[in-house]
Amino acid sequence: MTSKYNTYLYLEPFVIANAKGTNLLLYNLYTKKFLEIKNSIKLSKIVKKIISYNNMYFIKINMKEQLDAEFKDFVLKLKANYMGDLVQINNNYIPPIQIKPVPKILSENNNGSNEYLRSKKDILKYLTTISIYINNKLTKNEIKINKLSNQYLLNSGNEKSNNILKFEIIVKLLEECKNSSLSLLNILGGNILKYPSLSKLLNYLSEKKIKTNLHFIYSQFINNRQTIEHIITNYSINKLIIHVYPIKLHTIKDIYKISKKKLDGFVINFYISNLEEYNLIAKEIEEKNFNNLIYKIKPIVEKGNYQFWADEIFWDRNDIFNMGIKKNEIFANYELNSLEFGKLIIKSNGDVFANVNNKSLGNICNDKIINSVFNEYKLGESWFKIRKDVKPCNNCVYNLFCPPISNFEYIFNKNNLCNIG
Ligand code: SF4
Repeated sequence: MTSKYNTYLYLEPFVIANAKGTNLLLYNLYTKKFLEIKNSIKLSKIVKKIISYNNMYFIKINMKEQLDAEFKDFVLKLKANYMGDLVQINNNYIPPIQIKPVPKILSENNNGSNEYLRSKKDILKYLTTISIYINNKLTKNEIKINKLSNQYLLNSGNEKSNNILKFEIIVKLLEECKNSSLSLLNILGGNILKYPSLSKLLNYLSEKKIKTNLHFIYSQFINNRQTIEHIITNYSINKLIIHVYPIKLHTIKDIYKISKKKLDGFVINFYISNLEEYNLIAKEIEEKNFNNLIYKIKPIVEKGNYQFWADEIFWDRNDIFNMGIKKNEIFANYELNSLEFGKLIIKSNGDVFANVNNKSLGNICNDKIINSVFNEYKLGESWFKIRKDVKPCNNCVYNLFCPPISNFEYIFNKNNLCNIG
C-alpha cells in the first residue's frame, strides 16, 4: 500500500549551510552554534541538494534514506540545534516553499555583466570612503614607516621627491562625489602639516561637513603639538590617528603624559612585530591609566616573524566557532570583501587604488573618479576578492565564516592564514 504522505527534509530559514566535498557546516544565525559533519558522502549529497537554489531548503526524502542510520542521526542533530527537521505532507498538496537566506546584492552584481552596470547608473553609490595622500615627503627618521605601507593605511612616502596633490584637484574630486555615499575621508601624507594649502583644505572640508580623519606619524605629532591643537580647535575633525612605529618605551610614556590632557578623538595605532612588543605595550597600558585613550595594537609582517603570525594571529576552528558571526557579515562574504568594498585610496600623484597591492584603477588628475569606481566594480580585483573564489578557500567549508581577505594574504602570498589543515 502506498502512503498518503511524502516525507520532506527542511532547513530553517535562519540556517546558513555550506558543503564542500564530503564536509558540511551548518550555522544557526540565532543561537550562533555550528553543526559540523566531516567525511560523509551520503549527507553531503543531501545537503548539497537541499541548499541548491532550485530546492530552497526543502527536499523529498525517500524511504531508503529515511531508514539510513547516518541520516537519522543527522536529523536528530538538526533538531537538537533548531536547524531543521522532517515533515510529512499529504501527496495531494503542493509542498510549501522555504525562504533560503540569500544576500540582496546577488541580484545587482554580476561583475559587470548586467545592464545595470553597463549604464554606470548610480555606480558612485557604492563609494563610501576615500583615503587621500595629499603629499608624500618623509624625513630620514620617518621613512621606516614605509615598509608598512602595503599592510596598513598609514602615512608613507619618499625621502627625495615630494608629490603634492593640488587643492583644486581634491575639490574637483569631492564635488564629483556629491552624489556618492562618501561618509569618511582620510587625509594622509608624507607629513600633512607640510601641505601648502592645508588651511584652505581644512576650511573647505569643515564647511562642507565632510567627516575627516587626519593621519600623523608619531614624531610628526609629538613635534607639532601646538599646530595640531590649533587644527583641532579651529576645524571640524572627526579623528586624529597617530601611527607609532617603531615602538620604543618612551613613545608609550610620552603618550601617557599627553593622554592626561584632553585627547578626545585621538586614536593611537601601535605596530608590533612580535609577542614581546605586544606584552610591553599591554603591560604599560594596563599599569597606567590611559584616561580613555583609544588605541589599537596592530601586528605587522616583517622578515623572520612568520612563526609569530602562525602562533598568535592565524585562526583555527575554535576562533571561527566563537566569533559569533552575524548574518550581514556572512552575506557580505558571499559576494564582496567587506574590508575593501566601497573604499578607494588616492596617492599624491593622483593614482587611484582599491587596494595598494593591486594595480591602479585610474588617475584623478586626468580622469573622473566614477571611471575608477567602475573599473573596480567591473574587475572586482579588490572589492570582490572573496574566499569562495580563491584557492584553497574555495574548497573549504569555512569560507563563508572566515574574515575577509586582507593585505596580509597578499604579503604572505597565500590565502589560508589559518591553522586548519
Ligand atoms: S582561511 Fe581559507 S582554508 Fe582557512 S579556514 Fe578559512 S576558508 Fe578555510
